[in-house]
Amino acid sequence: MPELIYIKLFILLGIVILLVIIARYISKSKQKKLATILDKAFSEKWRGLLNKEVRFYRQLSEQDKKQFEKRILLFFATKKIEGVDVDIDDNIKLMVAASSIIPMFAFPEFNYPNVRQVLIYPDSFDEKFQTKRYKGHKEFISGMVGNRFMNGTVILSKPDLIAGFDGSRHQHNVGIHEFVHLIDETDGIIDGVPKQLIENSYVGSWLHEIKAEMHRIEKGKSDINPYAITNNAEFLAVVSEYFFDNPEKFKRKHKELYAYLSKIFHQDL
Ligand SMILES: [Zn+2]
Repeated sequence: MPELIYIKLFILLGIVILLVIIARYISKSKQKKLATILDKAFSEKWRGLLNKEVRFYRQLSEQDKKQFEKRILLFFATKKIEGVDVDIDDNIKLMVAASSIIPMFAFPEFNYPNVRQVLIYPDSFDEKFQTKRYKGHKEFISGMVGNRFMNGTVILSKPDLIAGFDGSRHQHNVGIHEFVHLIDETDGIIDGVPKQLIENSYVGSWLHEIKAEMHRIEKGKSDINPYAITNNAEFLAVVSEYFFDNPEKFKRKHKELYAYLSKIFHQDL
């Protein structure tokens, strides 16, 4: 009988080795495929569009632009971007990818493990995902990150996405807003404290800073979008829009907040 056990063990070992070989083969061919995609020359047309529409990209050094382009290719290769009842062109896709890269530009390895697809809606939508306007309805959403049944999905309204990249310096960019929620989510919870980006010893003073600024907003003593006082998560997303859209003004008006965000995102704009 002991021989039978040996035979079984031998077969089991064989199966394990075979599975390891298959897994390594799949992972290698995936890496190879990705390397081929990233090696591709970046389209001149796309480069022109980025230069025209995305100020963050325009202000980068030549070397950093190359890095930005590689991350665009990686985003395109790993995430689906689809229009729902609306046509989307390369420009829209580039704006989506740019929104995701800008806040995490200092972290070249980061590529949103929690995102599978981005859906572009023809307009802002209500809580039932309807874009139709009807009388008496006031609340419309310009972007959203999916939870539970919509996990891995980001929804962005096309006109609102475009408005974030209209070239003027403001503090609204729905693309950046939603991707900051997703960065916040990578520690498991969207709570305004992205734990992988903020040192433990800083969490307390960051929460204190949020509270103090919310107080100023409530009293009408701040130019930050009042939507920020909804909760800590919205606060982080709203001030990040301002930080990336209009860094000079944000730094001038909110020196301490600027320092916190600069520390969180590892960027001094
Ligand atoms: Zn939000």
